[in-house]
Amino acid sequence: AFTSTTVPEAPEDPLFSVMVAFRNDSSEKKIDLSIGAYRDNQEKVWILPVVKKATATTAMSPDYNHEYLPIIGLARFIKAAQRVCLGNSSDVIKDNRITSLQTISGTGALHLGALFLSKFYRPDGSNNTPTVYMSSPTWSNHPQIFKLAGLPTATYRYFNASTRSLDFDGMLTDLAAAPPKSIILLHACAHNPTGIDPNPRQWEQIATIMAERHHFAFFDSAYQGFASGSLDRDAIALRLFASYGLEMCIAQSFAKNCGIYGQRVGCFHFITSPATEADTLETVTRIGSQLTALQRACISNPPAYGAHVVSLILNTPDLFEEWEEDLRVMSGRIMHMRQQLRIKLEALGTPGSWHHITEQIGMFSYTGLTTDQCLQMREMHIYMPLNGRISMAGLNLKNLDYFVKSMDRVVR
Ligand code: PLP
Repeated sequence: AFTSTTVPEAPEDPLFSVMVAFRNDSSEKKIDLSIGAYRDNQEKVWILPVVKKATATTAMSPDYNHEYLPIIGLARFIKAAQRVCLGNSSDVIKDNRITSLQTISGTGALHLGALFLSKFYRPDGSNNTPTVYMSSPTWSNHPQIFKLAGLPTATYRYFNASTRSLDFDGMLTDLAAAPPKSIILLHACAHNPTGIDPNPRQWEQIATIMAERHHFAFFDSAYQGFASGSLDRDAIALRLFASYGLEMCIAQSFAKNCGIYGQRVGCFHFITSPATEADTLETVTRIGSQLTALQRACISNPPAYGAHVVSLILNTPDLFEEWEEDLRVMSGRIMHMRQQLRIKLEALGTPGSWHHITEQIGMFSYTGLTTDQCLQMREMHIYMPLNGRISMAGLNLKNLDYFVKSMDRVVR
C-alpha cells in the first residue's frame, strides 16, 4: 500500500547541485561554468536591450491584461515563431502543412511532442511504441523527458572522444541500423553538451538516410541565432529537412536567444509531408486537435507575458532587427572567449591539442577534462559538471587567466 514512507528519495539533478555548491563558496576567485545562461563580460545576467524596449511599450504597462491565453497559446506569436524556424518563404507555411502550439519553453515542447508520439505514433500498425534514438551524449534531460512519456530510448553514436569531434560514420551507421520509422532526436544547432554540429553536407547525408529509413525527425531547437549569430544559418538543418518533405516536429525555445529563461516561452511545431490541399487540411486539423487536447490536460494554457514580449519583438520590424544585433553581441562574445581560451592554453604550452575549443559552437564547450580533473578544478573554486562541459558564457576577460592557469595545472 502507498504511504508517504514508501517514497524513495530521488537523486538530485547534478547540474543544479553544482550551482548550489558555487553559491555556497565564499572565495572571490570562484567561477560558475555550469548553467547554460548568458553572462556579459562583467559576469552579469544580460537583459537583451530589445527585451527592455519591448517590455517598456504600453502593451506591457501596469494595465497589461493578465487573462488566460487560448489553449494553443498566442496566435500571432505562434505564426511568427514558425517563420523564425522555417524562414519567411517556407513552403511548409505556404502550404499550411504545420500545426503549432505555444509551450512551456523548449522543455514543455519536448514534453508535448513526446506525449503525442507516445500516444499516437504507431508506424508499423502494431501496438508497439517506437524507440527514440538520441545522440550519445545528449542534454541530460532528454532521456528523462521521453521516458516519462513512456517511450523507450536508445542512443546513436555522435562524439568521438579521442579526436573530440563528430563520429559521423558511427552516427550514419547507427541511424541506418535503427528499425525503420524510428524517432530520431536531433539538435538543430549548438549541440549540447559537445558544441559539435554536423556541417551542411553532413546534414544532407543525415536527411538522406532518414528519408531512406522513413525515420521521424524530432528536432530540438534551443539555440537558434545564439550559436552563429544568424537565425538563418542556425536553421539550416531544420529548413533542409523541411525541404525534403519529411514529416517531422520541432521543439523551439526562446529562452536563450531572447535571454528570457524564466518566462518559459517556446513552441511545438508538427510538420506534415506534402499532400493535396484537402488532405493536408484534414491531417493538420486532426493532429492539432489531439495536441490541443493534450495541452489542455497538461497545462490548460501556456503563460502569457513572455509570449507577448517575444511576439512584439518578432512582429515589429525595428525590434526584430535589434534582436538580430543582440544575437550577434552574445554569439560574438562567446566566439571571442573561445579564441582567447585556445590562444592562452596554447601560449602556456598546456599539454594536449585545443583546436576543438574554437571548432565547437554555441553555449558549451566540451573541454575533454576528466571527472578527476573537474573535481580538482572545483578545489580551485571553478564549478563545472563532471563531464568536462563548460558554459562558455561563464568566462570573461576578468576570470579567463585564472581559469586557464587552473586548467593548465590540472592537465599537467
Ligand atoms: N534543449 C537543450 C539542448 C537545452 O540545452 C535546453 C536548455 O538548457 C533545452 C532544450 C530547454 O530549455 P528551456 O526549457 O529553458 O527552453
